Amino acid sequence: MTQDPQRTSTLPSGSDIRLPWHLRLPAPLEREFVDYFRSNVARITPWATITLVSILALSVILELTVEPDLVTATWRPRLFCIMLAVATAVVAHRPDLRRWLHPMIILLAFAVAITGMWMGLSIDHPQAFLLFLQTPLAILVLGVLLRVPFLASALSTSAILALQALCTLAPNTLPLSQALTLLLFSLATGTMSLFGQYIYERLLRSHFLSEHVLYQHRAELHSANRVLESQATGDGLTGCLNRRGMESRLNDALHGRSRHAIDNVTVVLFDIDFFKQYNDTYGHLAGDECLKSVAGIPRGMAQGEADFVARYGGEEFLVVLANTSLKDALVFAERMRTRIEQLGLPHAGSRISQVVTISVGVASSLPGEKDVLALIKRADEALYQAKGAGRNCVAFMDELQRVQTL
Ligand code: GH3
Ligand code: MG
Ligand code: MG
Repeated sequence: MTQDPQRTSTLPSGSDIRLPWHLRLPAPLEREFVDYFRSNVARITPWATITLVSILALSVILELTVEPDLVTATWRPRLFCIMLAVATAVVAHRPDLRRWLHPMIILLAFAVAITGMWMGLSIDHPQAFLLFLQTPLAILVLGVLLRVPFLASALSTSAILALQALCTLAPNTLPLSQALTLLLFSLATGTMSLFGQYIYERLLRSHFLSEHVLYQHRAELHSANRVLESQATGDGLTGCLNRRGMESRLNDALHGRSRHAIDNVTVVLFDIDFFKQYNDTYGHLAGDECLKSVAGIPRGMAQGEADFVARYGGEEFLVVLANTSLKDALVFAERMRTRIEQLGLPHAGSRISQVVTISVGVASSLPGEKDVLALIKRADEALYQAKGAGRNCVAFMDELQRVQTL
């Protein structure tokens, strides 16, 4: 049986969030939605403008062929509406003006409706009442061709319908039957337009919420991934990279995959002297504290962009110095050894000092060398030599691959 992913997922989806009947979202989301709505409308505005301009221009052409007398009185208001429609398209096109898009659409709708009513009332012609058909056209501009948010559309549509009722039902304007027919037509258009718009806006808001939730999920996953990645490649005790992270970074450096240009790397491997005795003397917890303090020294010193410090094993650390010559790395290693000694961490169990000390092995990559393990192995050989030479000292693998003690 296949499982419904919706049921097994604990993450909410956009459709889990119920929209109230008035569709409004909490304040910050509502603001974002209005922007989203506006950019949706802006995208269709050029086509809507072409449609509206074509309808108005066609009306003029129709009048020109059927009733040429009418055109002398109608072309100016029509041209005014066409210019407003073009201005609306310009506002939609310019992001800096876009906040005026909804007011412009409302203005355009009122201009279409009022010029229609004005022409219907002022032109003395038996067919002039047909000019009132610009009212339903204005309503369609608000809710179908272009779009303003539902509440603004409902208020504007009601105002336009009220204006038409005032104009057509006033005494001595139109015969009552014509007035009522026109009003009924506008009312039907208004109702259907608003109904369609309500449904459209509900869907658009649900879609917006889904996108919003999806965006949040993606952001959460991204930060969770980053936490997991740092947990997988970091050492919880000392804050250094762990062995896995070290191998990956060192591999990237040797294979030229690093973000930085790296010509060669030098590895400085060190191990705390007589650390088993340290644990035996002071306890494991004190041993952990000692590891943290010791690790803090190379971490404070390795400041190059591509340098890093990793905990290689229990009390063994590896410092990777990018683009550093063997000579400079030896200076670094000796300074690091001294500073750790100068920390003055008491070590009664040590056979060579009163304080915690380290032994260090250094090796540089050979030209074109890609093998991480071979490089670390040479540093380990040098470290072994440092231990053999009495500890608390630095040994290195020279250019001829001979181990020398500093
Ligand atoms: P040497 O000078 O030869 O390095 O002697 P050593 O005692 O340091 O020898 P070795 O490297 O074998 O001992 C490592 C010890 O480090 C053994 C283990 O108990 C201890 N150790 C490893 N990891 C941890 C850790 O996370 N915390 C603590 N406190 N001790 C650790
Ligand atoms: Mg040790
Ligand atoms: Mg060790």
